[in-house]
Amino acid sequence: MESSILSKVSQLVRDIHCCNSCLGRQFGNLLTGLSNTKRGEALKILLLMEWENNHRLLAIEPPNSSSLLSKDFNIGSVSIKRFFPDTQPVDTPCDICQDNLSSYKLKTLTTDALKALSEYEFSTFLVGSQFPPFIIDKEDTIRGAYNLEFGESIKSEFNREIGKRLQEQIDDALVEFKAPDIVLTFDLMNNQIKIKSNPLFILGRYRKFKRGIPQSKWFCRKCHGKGCEYCNFTGKMYQESVEEFISEPILSAAKGIASKFHGSGREDIDARMLGNGRPFVLEISEPKKRNLDFKMLEREINKNAVGKVEIKIEGLTNRAKVRELKTRSSRNAKGYRVIISLNSPLKLGKTEIQAIENEFSDLLIQQRTPIRVVHRRADKVRSRRVKSFQIKKIEPHQLTLYIVCEGGLYVKELISGDEGRTQPNLSERLNITANVIQLDVVEVFNDKDSL
Ligand SMILES: [Zn+2]
Ligand SMILES: [Zn+2]
Repeated sequence: MESSILSKVSQLVRDIHCCNSCLGRQFGNLLTGLSNTKRGEALKILLLMEWENNHRLLAIEPPNSSSLLSKDFNIGSVSIKRFFPDTQPVDTPCDICQDNLSSYKLKTLTTDALKALSEYEFSTFLVGSQFPPFIIDKEDTIRGAYNLEFGESIKSEFNREIGKRLQEQIDDALVEFKAPDIVLTFDLMNNQIKIKSNPLFILGRYRKFKRGIPQSKWFCRKCHGKGCEYCNFTGKMYQESVEEFISEPILSAAKGIASKFHGSGREDIDARMLGNGRPFVLEISEPKKRNLDFKMLEREINKNAVGKVEIKIEGLTNRAKVRELKTRSSRNAKGYRVIISLNSPLKLGKTEIQAIENEFSDLLIQQRTPIRVVHRRADKVRSRRVKSFQIKKIEPHQLTLYIVCEGGLYVKELISGDEGRTQPNLSERLNITANVIQLDVVEVFNDKDSL
């Protein structure tokens, strides 16, 4: 087969009725800085000149190619008409794209997309498309049959052309491939435009001043959220949670469909979370609004939860941050104020206090999953380090401690020993039954090793 473009093109347009775009696209990877429509038009012009040249010199018949009379190639019918007055443009759709790449179709779809996008706030987007398989197959067959090596795919042309048109019509919106706010999919089989709004990730820190509030929404253990007598038809075990205080106002401002709360670890329900607060990311699915007024939301949330929860929003973040919170930073060191009760009175001298503090500082603790959580977590042994251990106050039946330890250490069990499942532990060391009666997280450090 001959490899010159001109011979391929003249065969192609003789056999197949194609629009300018579809012709140009078969050579789409040759040259840059022009559209496939321009490429196709240029090729058709050349063929048409060739024809007119031969016609004038040799008086040949009109060209036997309907592509030169396609409705998007006015030059063809007008030029040929000069010699053959009965010439009319050919109105049938393009054999390859079925007119899905016609300027009219692209314009209509752009208008429909703008309408569908009107309720969304976004600054980046990506266009995708689903073509009927017979169109894709047809193009593949043609590529093979005419030995066309530099063609572009119909989808990538369509996506780019729609993207270009949308970008022209929407202020400050750009096509982005990596992490677009919006993904638009044109389903050309069912004539539908689907919009996927990628999640919004909001980074903040919370403090919890009141005991008895869980971090996350806790569904009723009997009805799992449906509502029953046990939960007073609320579907929940606890009426309030840190998650709900934070997520509800933000979800409604963002007009999303669901939210997910990701905390950097969690405190026990009966522990307060003080100090600089615990980092969290709130994920909002399918948001319609992205330009949120964080100051206002912060005020609203803090007002609703006054005396219970207080937050500070740091701004937008991304999914990578969620992974980091869940893995690396959940191990970050935390400082605890712990009050423990003793079953019998205890007297400790200065040197003894010093000795205990030294023993428990910088100590690796082996913990088997505590009895109180083993019903929902795997039963295994893990090790976490106590960084520093200070006895702050001694009363006959009560001790107040300040402990800094690696995230994930079960502090209650460090004190009680959890029937020997945590080693070493304070109860055994003091040879007394010791239990935590009050626990507060007073500091969340920024890395695993800081004190
Ligand atoms: Zn076409
Ligand atoms: Zn229930």
